[in-house]
Amino acid sequence: MRFKSLSELKRPKPYEIFLANLPQNIVMSQYAKTKTFKINELILTIHGDSFEWYGYTLGTKDSPELIIDIGLPKNDQNLLDYTIIGSKGIAEFQESLPGYTLINGWIHSHGALQYKHFSNTDEKNNLTVLDFISTRTRKPIAKREIIIQDLVFLLKDRFTEKDLGKGSATLITDGPITEARIMETVFGSFCYSIVIGDEGWHKQKIYFQEKGVLSGQTSVNSKEVDLIFADTGKTLTQSDIQVLAKEVEEKIQPNTDPPPEMIERM
Ligand SMILES: [Zn+2]
Repeated sequence: MRFKSLSELKRPKPYEIFLANLPQNIVMSQYAKTKTFKINELILTIHGDSFEWYGYTLGTKDSPELIIDIGLPKNDQNLLDYTIIGSKGIAEFQESLPGYTLINGWIHSHGALQYKHFSNTDEKNNLTVLDFISTRTRKPIAKREIIIQDLVFLLKDRFTEKDLGKGSATLITDGPITEARIMETVFGSFCYSIVIGDEGWHKQKIYFQEKGVLSGQTSVNSKEVDLIFADTGKTLTQSDIQVLAKEVEEKIQPNTDPPPEMIERM
């Protein structure tokens, strides 16, 4: 008996064509940047101390990849490693937004703390936000072949139930064929994640999800990227700051009684 060489035994690589890219960096408007760090400043002036807080990064349906604004939900607990985002909270916030606005990620501040990276809780939140917004930011990014071993061809109206029992998948056609290639659309979606601090530092990642529409094959990965600031012509005015100050007062509350598990984690 003659053995095939290893290269012959290898599974053929699925044929794939590229359709579109997902964002490779995070682009944020100057307005959103100014607003972000203004929130830190306002917390300090209004509450007299620095707190951690979180918000959502916002884009539009026409331009889902650009962060044009920051949305501030009511923060329950403003503590490092304690903010746990749930899909219910994200859904409620999405519903409160105008129809053309889209959540494309989340942002949070570690305040004055020298904890300049994502915590384990942050990583869990990243996946929760990705899961929620993936259907909204998704687009076809590739067509990928599904390799089916033992594909059976049958002719419409000319097969029995027994014929259907054969093979791993069946293709029923209206004419005789001997070869077919099945290509599925791969949807890709993304979610931005940004962590900042009072001193003006920031770290950011993009989370990606890919899902084959037929196979259901899903993969999630993330990478650290650059944050690029873009001038969209919009600036944060004095009246914008007044509105923001009111929001900070109402939505971000000091927590003077940190839960014990938080102390343990630090
Ligand atoms: Zn954090």
